[in-house]
Parts: sequence; C-alpha cells; structure tokens
Amino acid sequence: MYDKYELVAGLEIHARLKTQTKLFCSCSNDTFSKEANSLICPICAGFPGALPVLNKEALSMAIKTGLALKCDVKKFSKFDRKSYFYPDLPSGFQISQYDEPICEGGELEVYVGEEKKTFQFNRIHMENDAGKLTHENHSSLVDLNRAGSPLIEMVTEPCFRSSEDVFEFLKELQRTLRFLGTSDADMEKGMMRCDANISIRLKGAVEFGTKVEIKNMNSFNNIKKALDYEFVRQVKAVEKGEKLIQETRGWVDDKEITVSQRSKEESADYRYFPEPDLPPVILDNAELDAYKKEVPELSAQKRTRFINDFKLPFKHASTLSWERELAEFFEEVVKISNNPQKAANLILGDYLALQKEQEVNISAANLAKIIKLMDEGKISSKIAKEILPEISKSDLDPEKYVEEKGLIQMSDTGELETVCQEVMSENPKMVEDFKGGKEKAIGGLVGQVMKKTQGKASPPMVNDILRKLMS
Ligand SMILES: [Zn+2]
Repeated sequence: MYDKYELVAGLEIHARLKTQTKLFCSCSNDTFSKEANSLICPICAGFPGALPVLNKEALSMAIKTGLALKCDVKKFSKFDRKSYFYPDLPSGFQISQYDEPICEGGELEVYVGEEKKTFQFNRIHMENDAGKLTHENHSSLVDLNRAGSPLIEMVTEPCFRSSEDVFEFLKELQRTLRFLGTSDADMEKGMMRCDANISIRLKGAVEFGTKVEIKNMNSFNNIKKALDYEFVRQVKAVEKGEKLIQETRGWVDDKEITVSQRSKEESADYRYFPEPDLPPVILDNAELDAYKKEVPELSAQKRTRFINDFKLPFKHASTLSWERELAEFFEEVVKISNNPQKAANLILGDYLALQKEQEVNISAANLAKIIKLMDEGKISSKIAKEILPEISKSDLDPEKYVEEKGLIQMSDTGELETVCQEVMSENPKMVEDFKGGKEKAIGGLVGQVMKKTQGKASPPMVNDILRKLMS
C-alpha cells in the first residue's frame, strides 16, 4: 500500500553563526561548555529598555551564506518581534525577520546516489537564539549564555520526496556552511537544528496533504528515521480512513517513534510586529559586490573541478572535496607534484588510513616529494607506504630519509635479472603455470622478487624482466 503514496517534506534548519560576539550585544558567542550565565549582559538577558545593536559580522555571514546558496539577497530587510513566552526567553519575544527577510529563494545541488538533484529554499532570515533549560531534581535551571547567539533559519520549499533526499541535502548544506566558515553546523553540539514538515499524498497528486511538524531530531540519522517512521504512520492512518491533524510531533530517540506534542501555532499567534529598536538593513550594489568576492569556492565546485581538471573519478573527487582543509592540502600537493592521480591515490589511501592511527604531520611539500620519488622510479609505492608513518611524525624530508635508510630502489637491470632467475628456479610451478597460459602466475613471481629485494625493486620493471626471461 505504501507504493501508492509519496512523501512531501520541507525543512526548517537553524544554524548558529560562528561570530565572535552575539547578534545584538558584545558578549562572547563562544559559549560551548562555559559556566552558566557567565556570558550575559542586560541586552541578551532581555532586560527592559536595553538597546540591541546589529552585529556586522553576523550580517556578513548571513549574506555570504545566502550568496553561496544562490539566494536573492535583499537590499532592504528588517527585524520583527516574534512574541512568545518561554522561561529561557526573558524578554518574552525573539528578534527575528518576518515579512522582509535578508534572503529569498535559493537552491542547493545535491547528489543522491549518482543522481544530481536541486532543492529549493524559500528564504533565509536572521534571528537570535534563546537560552537553555536544564531540568533536574524537580527544579529547572536557566542558562542564558546561548541567549542572543546569532542564528540563520533556512526554510526550504516542500521539495523533498524521500528521507534519502533530506539526508544527502543536509550533509551538503553542512559542508557548504563549513566551507564558508559561517557555521560549524554540528548537530550534536546544537550548532545546527532541523525541524521537518511532512505530509503524504497519492503519487501524481498536486495538492498537499495535512502537514505535521517534527521536532527534536538531533542527528542526520534520526531525521532520516523520523521521516521514514512518519511516512508509514501517516499512510497507515489514511488507509484506515483516519483524518490527520496539523500538529507538532516530537521524535523520541530511544523508542524511535514520533509523539504528538501540541497543535501547530499559526503565525498570527506570535503577533509579529516591526522591531522598533533596530533600523532596517539597507545594502547597495557596491556592498553586495564586495560580499560576492568573499564567497570562497565551495565543496561542490571543487568536486566538479577535480573531476574535470584532474580527471578523478566522482567518488575520489567527492571525498577529497569533502572538507576544506583536506581539499586545500590535496590541491597544494598537486601544485607541487604536478601529478593529481598519484596525489589522490596517496592521500585517499595511505595518508587517510594513517590519520586514523596516529597524528599526521606532513607538509604538502614533503608529501609531493614522496610522489616525485615514485615518479622518478626511486621508490616503489610499497616503500612510500612504509616510510609515510616515520616521515609524518615530524615532517622529515623524504629524499634525505630514503637515502639515509638505503631505501632507493634497485635500478640495475643486471642485478635484478639475477634475482629474477633465482626466484624462477625456486618456483618452477609458477613458471610452468605462466608458460601454460596462467597470466596471474606472474603476480606470485613478482611478489617473491619484491620479498627478496625487501621491496626495493620496481614492480613494473620486475614484471618486464620476468616476462622477457620466460618468453
Ligand atoms: Zn550580551
């Protein structure tokens, strides 16, 4: 019965901007694991009459995020008060943007599997965060350190048709924010929070069904699970002839279900009105152009360039462009070694594997030297792998290192021929197999030669000599 229906989902994503100070005051925004209420002032603690002043860095980050997401950055935007009561919101209202947000529209291209999809944004606006409540021993504690931190809320169109779409979109969005340096977008630390609006409809239908908002999902995996759960719940309800109601449901992590929390508020309930203490934000063309120049090349653009310019396969290009630091390191190695293929193989293989085992401290210049040694036939890829851990401990010069340790490859053909002949006479079965047409048997012989020379022979050279000797 599920095949008849399709999921329709839209997202509201809050990302905390990585500014020095809060959105409307000069308190530090670096609040993670700080003593409760140690980073507050009359403005962010919501004292009556305190005067907010817009943080220019936060505005700049919101604009750059909008530009990177291909939004229409508005030359006129303003702030509004969104009224609601909550114990961690002492002012009784949040300063947000209602009808004139900083950004409208926008889109993000995402690969879902091998398929490229484009998902649309409706808007991005700025707002301040509330504080944090902790409940323990029949009492509740209020920490206002987080109150007043700058957030951007990114609202998408209801453009997602599967939980897989949402999962890949969020990963790409997270990467984009990290490349921009506008947010750490770490869900576990609450730097990125995501609510989802979900409804179902018969495939092919144009009208939307009754939407339900899901909250409290604190990881990408949980979002995926919650969407899958909610899809099944709604289909079952509709099939039974039940009427779905518009409501807010919370994700219960340990039970992996959603439960009803409250009926959904309409925007009228918040009684939005223009914030009287803040002037509108007005931008001119020159300012917008200056912001455009500050947007760096993003993950997806790097990936495309790695595929086109360096002829890397999609998967390799994708991993290398995943994080800005790794991508820039790879590009630096390519620039010096002029060998993108080998640089990609070495970084994706031995380099990343080593990072899981020890601290890796090797400069792009020295990693490029290892590639150069391989290109010149002075060391094999096996030796490269072996020396990497030592060299990476304190960024040693690989050229000096292989010379000192006597690891330079045997390039004397005569000497190699002698070893090859020895190996052939010790392994008559393999020789016979090869001569009988078993192409793979040569691998065994090459392996034996490599063993005898302690990896100092060049495998392609050994291969050639063996073939010559057995022909
Ligand atoms: Zn403050």
